[in-house]
Amino acid sequence: MAYRSIVLVKQVPDTANITAEAMKEDGTVNRAALPTIFNPEDLHALEAALEVKDRFGGTVTAITMGPPKAADVLRDCLFRGADRAILLTDRRAGGSDTLATSYILSQAVKTVGNYDFVFCGRQAIDGDTAQTGPQCAEKLNIPQVTYLEEIVNIQGNIAELKRNIGHGWEIVKVRLPCLATVVETANTPRPWSAKRMMRNKAKQAPAEIPAATSERLEQLKQQGKLLEQWGLDDISADIDRCGLSGSPTKVFRIQSIVLKKEGFTEIEPTETGVRRLIRELVGDRTLG
Ligand SMILES: Cc1cc2nc3c(=O)[nH]c(=O)nc-3n(C[C@H](O)[C@H](O)[C@H](O)COP(=O)(O)OP(=O)(O)OC[C@H]3O[C@@H](n4cnc5c(N)ncnc54)[C@H](O)[C@@H]3O)c2cc1C
Repeated sequence: MAYRSIVLVKQVPDTANITAEAMKEDGTVNRAALPTIFNPEDLHALEAALEVKDRFGGTVTAITMGPPKAADVLRDCLFRGADRAILLTDRRAGGSDTLATSYILSQAVKTVGNYDFVFCGRQAIDGDTAQTGPQCAEKLNIPQVTYLEEIVNIQGNIAELKRNIGHGWEIVKVRLPCLATVVETANTPRPWSAKRMMRNKAKQAPAEIPAATSERLEQLKQQGKLLEQWGLDDISADIDRCGLSGSPTKVFRIQSIVLKKEGFTEIEPTETGVRRLIRELVGDRTLG
């Protein structure tokens, strides 16, 4: 049996090189002002999908939502072994929080259709919420396995997956289709293949070449040099659930917190201990 995997990959600001222009006045990320990289854990999500293809047969489709420049991560996916790559770009999606992002991505997954696995990274290094994957699973109404460490086996429509539970592992059996969020210890992402790079490096999304006429785009398509690109209308998205209008979260300020206190306090695991801890946290304004 061949398995069809969809991988959700995100281009993120390189948080090791943040500048003062990192955030716009409205509290959203100023992506244009930041160097970008492939979200680290999404490389492991891609590798998990490629592993399913290698071991059991199937296909891998990569989807990213972002500005035209996000097509970089799609080319990267093609260089490593993805069969299909889709750029979801639409100005009306700008400023989406995880609620809106997961809605848009789940609509894109539904539009691709006919899938067995959706793989995501556990979290993205810019938002760090780890909510997008689980929220997508809820919207797709499919089971989710978070913290995927290993694909133990797949038989028919049942996958045996090992997940990291902090101080140990748990092996779960899940019915397909399912969504899994992948951690960085799960695998070693494969490098680019020289052949695949030569075949795919010239591919561009229409949004990357805004001056191109429709004839030119058609010509590029015929030459196999056009990346697939969708907007919100292509995935039948309800516009009110996308972008700022679909996002209840507002980020007012980002602060760099430097913890100065050294050492630790041991709290006994009793009712009195917990009360003491809460009093302390409220007292130093960590809570409340
Ligand atoms: C400082 C800061 C604070 C924020 N706080 C909140 C908050 O409290 N609540 C909130 O709802 N939003 C918040 N956001 C916005 C949130 O980061 C964005 O909505 C983001 O698009 C999705 O969330 P994430 O980056 O946290 O992704 P995560 O949930 O950490 O990402 C998990 C996985 O989902 C997939 N994924 C995520 N985004 C995309 C994408 N665009 N395309 C393809 N795959 C994707 C990837 O596989 C990724 O590894 C915040 C952003 C910033 C910069």
